[in-house]
Amino acid sequence: MKLRLKKPLVALLVSALLSTSVVPAHAAIDIEDSLPDMGTTAGSTLSINQEIAMGDYYTRQLRNSAPLVFDPLLSNYINNLGQKLVSNASSVKTPFHFYLVNNPNINAFAYFGGNIVLHSALFRYSRNESELASVMAHEITHVTQRHLARMLEDQAKTTPLALAGVLGSILIFMANPNAGLATFTGSMAGMQQNMITFTQMNEQEADRIGIQTLYRAGFDPKGMPDFMQILADQVRYSSKPPEMLLTHPLPDSRLSDARSRASQFPARQVPQSADFLFAKMRVLTMLTKNPTSENALQTILDQFKQGTALERSAANYALILIYSRDRKFDDARKLLTPMLEKEPNNIWLIDAMTDIDLEQNRASDAVARLQLALKQRPNNNVLIANLANSYMHNKQYNEANRLLYRYTFDNPSDPIGWQLMAENAAKQGDRAHELAAYAEDLALRGDFETAIRYLGDASRQVKLGSNDQARFDARIDQLRKIQQRDSQFK
Ligand SMILES: [Zn+2]
Repeated sequence: MKLRLKKPLVALLVSALLSTSVVPAHAAIDIEDSLPDMGTTAGSTLSINQEIAMGDYYTRQLRNSAPLVFDPLLSNYINNLGQKLVSNASSVKTPFHFYLVNNPNINAFAYFGGNIVLHSALFRYSRNESELASVMAHEITHVTQRHLARMLEDQAKTTPLALAGVLGSILIFMANPNAGLATFTGSMAGMQQNMITFTQMNEQEADRIGIQTLYRAGFDPKGMPDFMQILADQVRYSSKPPEMLLTHPLPDSRLSDARSRASQFPARQVPQSADFLFAKMRVLTMLTKNPTSENALQTILDQFKQGTALERSAANYALILIYSRDRKFDDARKLLTPMLEKEPNNIWLIDAMTDIDLEQNRASDAVARLQLALKQRPNNNVLIANLANSYMHNKQYNEANRLLYRYTFDNPSDPIGWQLMAENAAKQGDRAHELAAYAEDLALRGDFETAIRYLGDASRQVKLGSNDQARFDARIDQLRKIQQRDSQFK
């Protein structure tokens, strides 16, 4: 699928005709509606449930304000990598979610409720999966050790929620590249700056426990000091220090501690990960386009063309994406065809060929290929989203709808499913379901007012007393409840 950044706010409601529903009744479940009660940590002012609710609120703000990358391939990659680490971490009390933000500065941060944001620059600077994973393991540990919550509790025993709100907006602020460091340090005052700087003790703990997680998950523990070295070099050779060092200070002792810790683990050779290299090339070709990143891409391409078979194949994948971006679809197809014959199950290649097929009006080819691939991996999100999109291009709207129903049911917090569902309903002239699907997309970005208005419109357009009407009305009630809950964080 073509990569989507922050969704342009819709005026895509193109269908004008009223129609009765051909869409199956569909229960949208928000993750927070179905969470188990995890109880309160003893002696803490913030319960885990409060943390999760706050995390959900900030995630909606983040979707609305930061250049989040909505891309099934990259999102699946970082979440699979993250879950591999989480399942090897201890004291996990919340579900974890990983988000990618298009931002040229090296940074990563965790916020409430097991949510972790990675800046795309991490892919540019990390050379292997262990280095990238080391940053994630460090952030995961900030969450499992409840550093953020404890910091708040220490600093704000009296009004934790109000201060949490301040903290949250700073985190969101930081994820936005337009909000530079100058503005940040200038007007926001030192106190708040201090609030998000983890203490040296927190950092040590995140490194110490993080490296164990890294090792247990099968990665090279040397990835941690190696990536810190990249950060340290940035400080030395660049005029602007990496943002990451503002929230995660890096004194020399941190680097030397990490080196000595890594050397205590048995030596381990971890082969280069194909998924990591393809993800890196996808980020470099499709995100953060500026002269410096173009130069970085060219350097890596030159290097990979002389490299291992895997590196050459990653370089070719980057070229395919560049050809496609420049609308040279014949060139892209020519390069991709033999690669796909050799690796018919490579998800990155299947996805690239799908885009080329759809651009060249060969949707039925894409459908056939994806159906076959899905037989091998029936639960793969990337394949499901791609097939739904291809069905839609092939005018197989009912098949698309069936898949999207499943996709949005399994991934209610992924805007892509709702956007595709809305587009698919529009193509069928099904205004009510188009509105209802867009309402979910809007709610995911915290715009409950418009979402509720859309659902109200949808409810008036379907048959009085129908299942659809009952469902739209029930969803309005649910959204009002979440809206009310979120108002405490504003
Ligand atoms: Zn840290």
